[in-house]
Amino acid sequence: MFDKILIANRGEIALRVLRACKELGIASVAVHSTADEDAMHVRLADESVCIGPPAARDSYLNVPALLAACEITGADAVHPGYGFLSENARFAEILAEHDIHFIGPKPAHIRLMGDKIEARRTAERLGMPVVPGSDGGLSSDREAISLAHALGFPVLVKAAAGGGGRGMKVAYEPDELIATLATARAEAKAAFGDDALYLEKYLAHPRHVEIQVLGDGHGRAIHLGERDCSLQRRYQKIWEEGRCPALNDAARNAIGETVAKAMRELEYLGVGTVEFLYEDGKFYFIEMNTRIQVEHPVTEMITDIDLVLEQIRVAAGGDFEFSQRDVKFNGHAIECRINAENPVSFRPSPGKIVHYHPPGGLGVRVDSAVYHGYSIPPYYDSLVGKLIVHGKTRGECLMRLKRALDEFVIDGIETTLPLFRALVREKDVIDGDFHIHWLEGFLAGGGMNG
Ligand code: ADP
Repeated sequence: MFDKILIANRGEIALRVLRACKELGIASVAVHSTADEDAMHVRLADESVCIGPPAARDSYLNVPALLAACEITGADAVHPGYGFLSENARFAEILAEHDIHFIGPKPAHIRLMGDKIEARRTAERLGMPVVPGSDGGLSSDREAISLAHALGFPVLVKAAAGGGGRGMKVAYEPDELIATLATARAEAKAAFGDDALYLEKYLAHPRHVEIQVLGDGHGRAIHLGERDCSLQRRYQKIWEEGRCPALNDAARNAIGETVAKAMRELEYLGVGTVEFLYEDGKFYFIEMNTRIQVEHPVTEMITDIDLVLEQIRVAAGGDFEFSQRDVKFNGHAIECRINAENPVSFRPSPGKIVHYHPPGGLGVRVDSAVYHGYSIPPYYDSLVGKLIVHGKTRGECLMRLKRALDEFVIDGIETTLPLFRALVREKDVIDGDFHIHWLEGFLAGGGMNG
């Protein structure tokens, strides 16, 4: 096992990793920018190192500074959390070159799945159905037009290097597709340094269903069930739940086993998530995330398996001590991502939290790094915390969620709490009857104003 883990992240996920380190008896090192001196992960870690000024590129993405922090503190492993350097294969390689372990998958797998065109090819090769679309990258506008006609409009233009909901554009007809290709190419080049694009059929009413996996890197791999992340705004998840209300056991076991088998074949190491769209009883692969995800607590609550702890264990060459058959699914869990944003305009609302009272009680978990008097800096993402609620049934879960949301106090900044208080009272949400475009419709229809 590792002696000392450096956590190359901030906010709630840094704290989440820290908790796993403490339980495993591993010393922890927090790193922080000058804007995060008062952050909770810095306060709770055994040691901390300032790695640069506020801008992420100068601090949390600053590889030389992170290497120096490892050297100063003697850390023998780095946990990247999510975002920042978590899906940077080169970073994982550089750490290895310095005899430091990267707590994540093999660099080759990060690279493979980081290129979404390669990821689609790999998924197909491994027997996973993909969204109808281009075989590889688009080489010309003419090719794109004829492919779009064959698929049927609307189509979705995607950047091979895209992520976080960026680099995707819908086109409803040929002229629009030509214009879209030009802007998408320029934007992809500017944002990701790679202008490769591909095309998918734009599905009208799918759900987003993703499978959590865990592998030991030597061909043992299992799945830990699915999460439904259909409630999204601008392709970004805001509410995640497990199990998916639209699946029966036969369907979920079949897709879970397909994915686990693919991971065994890849000899995948660590935790990962294989994402699908699910429409009219069929699954379509969209991408794989080779890291711990924001919504991992949903799976933890229903399986009672600590994913970060297992991730650290397998990264250290250990094994997970349960088989597929031992994984039991217990009840239902829902996670709400509470952001420092205006709940109607979604404008960021950084600033000082003057009152903070998180909810408690049976089945309620809050993963957050904020506290009373904490100032949310304007430099990073706007996640304030995650409210995760567990119940024996989806109905019980919703009952607890409603109560927990009403109890939650975060004053001094605007948050998306009012959005969730409205959602939990919506009939479609209560019935679990939604798809990936539902929330945009709710918001456009003035759901938050009436
Ligand atoms: P990212 O890596 O940016 O998160 P994904 O490929 O995972 O991109 O897609 C993010 C979201 O975009 C999905 O959850 C879904 O809501 C939407 N989306 C992706 N592909 C399609 C598609 N072919 N048709 C309709 N919506 C899609």
